Amino acid sequence: MICNYCPRKCNAVRTEHHGEGFCGMGELPVVARVAPHFGEEPCISGTKGSGTVFFSGCTLKCVYCQNYEISSQHKGKTITPGELADCYKRLEQTGVHNINLVTADHFVNAVVKSFEIYKPRIPVVYNCSGYTSPKTLSMLDGIVDVYLPDFKYSDDTLAVKYSSAPNYVNIASAAIKEMIFQVGLPQLDEDGIIQKGVIVRHLILPAHTKNSIGVLDILKHNYGKQILVSLMCQYVPVGQADKYSRINRKITRREYEKVKFELYQRDLNGFTQDLSSASEEYIPSWEF
Ligand code: SF4
Repeated sequence: MICNYCPRKCNAVRTEHHGEGFCGMGELPVVARVAPHFGEEPCISGTKGSGTVFFSGCTLKCVYCQNYEISSQHKGKTITPGELADCYKRLEQTGVHNINLVTADHFVNAVVKSFEIYKPRIPVVYNCSGYTSPKTLSMLDGIVDVYLPDFKYSDDTLAVKYSSAPNYVNIASAAIKEMIFQVGLPQLDEDGIIQKGVIVRHLILPAHTKNSIGVLDILKHNYGKQILVSLMCQYVPVGQADKYSRINRKITRREYEKVKFELYQRDLNGFTQDLSSASEEYIPSWEF
């Protein structure tokens, strides 16, 4: 195939096992972990866990990636769409609340095929970077029930510096608009588990509270209460963060309280984390 799935539009050749595009991945999915996960937002993990499938590779190159072992080192096992469908079945049998696809943008074709083989009876969560094209998202219309995108930057210069992602703000804004169009307003069941909707995550970076407050402004202005906002403080300096002095530490309580205050000021609905989440203990272990 010639790939233009994500906003990078590499026009690159991808065979089953090999890819020449920015993401460097072939067409077949590479999976690093398939397991119930209890570290998501309460309305996703609930009491029974979220049935996560972590995909290797990424269309972003965040220097601080918390999952760098799989995003940039591409560790994982190559599987077919049929085997991916079997993963959904196995997860569903454990009693998890949902199937949660983590960073699957570059495998969207295989993901669509996998759901043609098996559509779970529980909600499907699509957990992604937000750097996604509306056209590619339209392939997931009718498959995905809950979108869980990041909105990392309000400042495109930071997006280029830390994630090699030009035009991030416009691209992520358009992607979230398409997600809301597809799945509508957040709907929770009687147990507080999300069935439909969009939850936008923002990971606060150390020394960049201005960026975070800018993100909250964009979310408030563009979407308001059409989305839930998940403010995350779990940043730990991993990957190549040691090459960037400003982000080579955890965030401080003062930084977190400042951004949380601004979240409450904007009257957005959503979630915050406990500062104790900023630990490598909360990074999942991978199955290779
Ligand atoms: S999915 Fe990979 S190959 Fe395709 S356009 Fe994006 S980065 Fe390039």
